[in-house]
Amino acid sequence: MTHGAYEQGVAAAEWAVEAGHLRIAVVGAGMAGLGAARELGRRGVAAEVWEARNRVGGRTTGVDVGGFGFDLGANWLQQYDDNVLARLAEEIGLAVVATDFTDPLVLGPARLGVPKELEGELRARLGSASPQAAIGDVVGEWLREPGRFAAAAIRDFVDAEIVMDSGAPLSWLSARYGFEPGVGEGDRWIVGGYRLLVEHLAGGVDVRLQRPVTEIRVGERGVTLVGDGQVADFDAAIVTVPLPVLATIGFAPALPDRHRVAVGRLGMGRVEKVVLRFERRFWPEHAAGYYRVHGPGENEICEWLDASAADGVPTLVGLFAGPWLEELWDGTDAEVAERAAEIFRDAVG
Ligand SMILES: Cc1cc2nc3c(=O)[nH]c(=O)nc-3n(C[C@H](O)[C@H](O)[C@H](O)COP(=O)(O)OP(=O)(O)OC[C@H]3O[C@@H](n4cnc5c(N)ncnc54)[C@H](O)[C@@H]3O)c2cc1C
Repeated sequence: MTHGAYEQGVAAAEWAVEAGHLRIAVVGAGMAGLGAARELGRRGVAAEVWEARNRVGGRTTGVDVGGFGFDLGANWLQQYDDNVLARLAEEIGLAVVATDFTDPLVLGPARLGVPKELEGELRARLGSASPQAAIGDVVGEWLREPGRFAAAAIRDFVDAEIVMDSGAPLSWLSARYGFEPGVGEGDRWIVGGYRLLVEHLAGGVDVRLQRPVTEIRVGERGVTLVGDGQVADFDAAIVTVPLPVLATIGFAPALPDRHRVAVGRLGMGRVEKVVLRFERRFWPEHAAGYYRVHGPGENEICEWLDASAADGVPTLVGLFAGPWLEELWDGTDAEVAERAAEIFRDAVG
């Protein structure tokens, strides 16, 4: 989550300052990098941020539709009451809207509903699986003998809570660690998008855009960053790139073998979003502001945020993961939008 990344950046900055470093590089200008850079600035330590892309924000990114900003990456301030970024959003006067994830309106063919006890049973099964087992192994075995729950209810729960959240095939996800507890309570989205927060965070930070770091050399006198024809020396570097990206950066000396093996085994899940604006609203009002659509095929799922509150124009933000995404995202933007809208329209009837 964004606030977790931000807090990790702040913690790394605290460590670097307490270690006595005076000139510090930060690699990556996502939430973690911005958290680190801001904390360094607050403590009066010079920080230079090297960012590969031509923009800041990393996985918080947005798009302008009809002159209004919507999120394509992170959307919600989660764990709202304990979220440092939520406090910041309040401080700078950003408008936020609550989504009740516990009560989405499920659209489309009638579903059986998911009994409350199902989650407990799934957690117990995952918790007692072998450390090497994948969620897919545990769920596959359960579906062969569903016992007191209907197989369709088990599938719906897993699709909504795991496939949609991780964007990864169930065979990639660790049974022990792949199902995160406790997200989705009291989350709020930012009217105008995360970029309003990002712009504020990046204010006054020395960011060098389009400077991908390709090599990090650590010597007795400090750290040397190499990237895009640039070489520069620092006392220390705080590296905030996503874990799988670490494998693309050359470290000298090399990272310990066990780190490299672990990083090499990590994959990235994939969740894509589509923002659709309409002249007229054609879907039912639902106080939670959230809708779910299950497809007929295995693990086919999408969810929809009603973002009309942003500027009064009927707006949906669709989140796609799993096989539906793979089949949908091959076309042009217009084709993706049309097919995504069709899935939603069919579900509404
Ligand atoms: C679709 C989606 C929806 C999400 N929804 C939510 C949500 O609703 N709420 C929430 O709290 N979280 C959400 N998240 C998670 C959240 O976006 C991330 O946890 C958070 O943004 C990660 O921040 P980060 O700084 O660790 O990494 P990133 O944001 O990935 O930042 C890393 C930065 O490093 C840069 N970089 C990469 N390689 C190099 C290099 N070689 N040299 C220099 N720079 C480099 C990248 O360009 C990037 O800017 C979502 C994520 C996705 C993908």
